[in-house]
Parts: sequence; C-alpha cells; structure tokens
Amino acid sequence: MAPLTPSWVQPSHPDIQEVIVTGNAAEFTTKSISKISLPPFGLFAKLDFPPCTEAPEPTYATVQMGRDKHLDLNSDLLYINHSCEPSLIFDMAAMNIIAGPKGLKPGDELTFFYPSTEWYMAQPFDCLCGTPSCRGRIAGARDMTAAQLEGVWLNRHIRDLLEERDRQQGKQKAATNGGTNGTAATNGSAPAQQQALRAALAQAEKLVETLRQAAGSLDNVGGGGSLKRKRVAEAGVTEDSPSEPAGLQRRGPTSRELSGEMGGDTSAA
Ligand SMILES: [Zn+2]
Repeated sequence: MAPLTPSWVQPSHPDIQEVIVTGNAAEFTTKSISKISLPPFGLFAKLDFPPCTEAPEPTYATVQMGRDKHLDLNSDLLYINHSCEPSLIFDMAAMNIIAGPKGLKPGDELTFFYPSTEWYMAQPFDCLCGTPSCRGRIAGARDMTAAQLEGVWLNRHIRDLLEERDRQQGKQKAATNGGTNGTAATNGSAPAQQQALRAALAQAEKLVETLRQAAGSLDNVGGGGSLKRKRVAEAGVTEDSPSEPAGLQRRGPTSRELSGEMGGDTSAA
C-alpha cells in the first residue's frame, strides 16, 4: 500500500492522473482516475530517471523492470492499482506506460496487471476488482498458474522467467511420469482449463511419439556409433520436448524468441 506522505511533490502528474484517497491515515485506499483519452496502446506516461530510481530489492512501492531490476517510481504513478482487466500496460522494456487494447477515456480508473511486471510478491492478495475474468488470488507471476496468466499482456522478463519455470516443471514431470501429465492449470476458468488440458495432451502425445522414434532409431544402431547417436537423439528430444505444454502453446512468440530470434518486443495483448 502506498504511503500517504510521499517524498515527492504532489500531484506529480496533474494533467493525466487524479489520485483519490479514501479513509484515514491508519486505514486508507487509493485509486487513480484518468484525466485524458488515448487510443489503444497510446503513450500515457514515460518512466524517466529521475524521478525513477533503481531499487535494490522489491518492495510494495517498486515495479519490476527486469530479471533482477526493480524501480522506485517516486511519483503518483505509484497509486495505480491492480486490475485483472487493466486499463494500462507497464511496458518496462520501453519504460513506457501505455493504454491497454481498449484505449483510455477521462474517468476510467487507471490500473495495470501486477503479475505482468512482478515475478515475486511479498504480499499476495485476493483481488476484488470484480471484472468477469478476475484471477482471484494475485501473487507474482511465479506463483500463478498458466490459466491465471492467460490472455493478458506480460513483460518480456516475466515471459522468459515463466518459460524457465515451465521448462523446469516439465523436466520434473517427464522424469516422474513420462510427461503424460503436463498442465499446471488448476485455478482458472473451466474453458481455459479444458483448453490447457487438451493442449497438454496433444503435446504429450507428440513427446511420446518423439521418444518412440528416438528409441526406434537406437534399436537400429549397433556397435561404437550408438552412444553418439544416443546423444544426438537425446539432444533432439530435449529441444523438441514440451516443458509445459499449455505454456508453450500460449506463448508461441516467446518460444521463437528463445530459440534465437532476437527481434523487438512482441505484443501479446
Ligand atoms: Zn481481479
């Protein structure tokens, strides 16, 4: 929760943002209202140094801007709340706050999806945003399921970390049950969960087939060449095997980026 007595001069963004505080110093809530209209993905505010400063570690007042980098906003932008259907996107690679896919109009509450920047949150909370797609318990992306993160824009560092998480989980699952049970979607809407399950099953079938083919090719190899062939086969399987099938399905662009395509940031909105 943001402090009532900030270190900066208020209001910091009087032309674009109105901060509303209700309650008293002991117990209060804040929210922010837009004063402007913007087209979809229009620039709302830049995150400049200063007033922004790098923070040594995450706090309630920081926004994560990279794998190990956190940002103190040092402005009223701190009072932008979480929503599961946010009006804003914090694009931390570009250091821009932009309007979401619906654009923005005066009177709209300013919100963004906290797990789109935060990998870990010290204080997860139960969201009361009341939107149809409310994800319920909001934590850092690390502690949310694929279904909970479905359909919302995520920063590159979060997508990269999720790929790693899912790959690790996929390896663990493959080791324990042959990769036949691959989805982590346990807390989402039923259709999303079913979709994730179907995708997981399809990927698992592919994996099983790949493994079968690799085993078959080994059977046909005799003598000294077999070990090398085995390594090649294993490498091939590792590269093609789905770590978290639902995740791979959902984040196709990230998979391509990870395999060497170093193009610009992709919008997954
Ligand atoms: Zn919500």
